[in-house]
Amino acid sequence: MQIYWTRINEVIEETPEIKTYMLDCPEGFTWEEGSHTHLGLEGFNAGEKPNKGLVRHMSISTLPDEKSIGITTRIREQRSEFKHILNDLEIGTSVAIFKTHSNVPLKREDKNIYLLSSGVGLATFRPLVLDYLNNAEQVNKIHSLNIDSSRDYLFTNVFEGVPEKGFTSRFVDNRKDYYGDVQKLAQDKEALFYVVGSDEFLAQNIAVLREEGVEKDRIMLDKHEHTLQEFLV
Ligand SMILES: Cc1cc2nc3c(=O)[nH]c(=O)nc-3n(C[C@H](O)[C@H](O)[C@H](O)COP(=O)(O)OP(=O)(O)OC[C@H]3O[C@@H](n4cnc5c(N)ncnc54)[C@H](O)[C@@H]3O)c2cc1C
Repeated sequence: MQIYWTRINEVIEETPEIKTYMLDCPEGFTWEEGSHTHLGLEGFNAGEKPNKGLVRHMSISTLPDEKSIGITTRIREQRSEFKHILNDLEIGTSVAIFKTHSNVPLKREDKNIYLLSSGVGLATFRPLVLDYLNNAEQVNKIHSLNIDSSRDYLFTNVFEGVPEKGFTSRFVDNRKDYYGDVQKLAQDKEALFYVVGSDEFLAQNIAVLREEGVEKDRIMLDKHEHTLQEFLV
């Protein structure tokens, strides 16, 4: 396993609770849209065994052509030790990234694509949308639906949509509107549905999609193959 140590080059305050940490791109480090990585804070591998408290899975919210690795995360008032440390990190601090992989690359299969997310889950989808806007080949259109009860919506410059390029987007702040929309979108009998959020959120979305007749192989989750099957029962 290769561990890349790199530096924070910018911290963007996206909303009062959400920050994006921009990391220098280490030599030889590449990724594709939809990737997640392991973010390790200094000292995570100092002992005999790695300190899991200093490591979290994080999606990469940027594309390689943006030249920085974006990590977008919510830091609440009540926060873990990991987020405490992360919140205090300054520009120039080193962090580690390793085991980077995409379970949810953009499928170019001449289909409509619906991106369903909750809160900061939108970070996983930002690079998929940018990749599509750069090159729409073999994707009919994309629609994003994001629920965030804080109403401090994320990445609004990208997710305001570009309808003339086949990309539309909606933010909602409550479950009634959200699942009402999901039910309607599920009527598209050929489309692919990408879902990102907490496990509870995934389970609820899958239940609604399956109820409306969406087959398992049209539902994409940011899960490895073995855990994927547990969710898509
Ligand atoms: C493939 C994958 C990709 C992911 N991508 C991302 C991503 O891009 N961005 C992202 O943010 N997360 C992502 N996650 C989730 C991430 O790994 C963390 O699990 C998540 O951010 C929670 O972090 P945390 O455990 O440090 O807790 P926190 O976010 O600090 O807290 C989690 C919850 O517990 C509460 N809490 C924490 N500490 C206390 C306390 N002492 N007292 C009371 N309540 C407390 C908080 O208020 C919050 O509601 C991803 C996970 C996976 C599996």
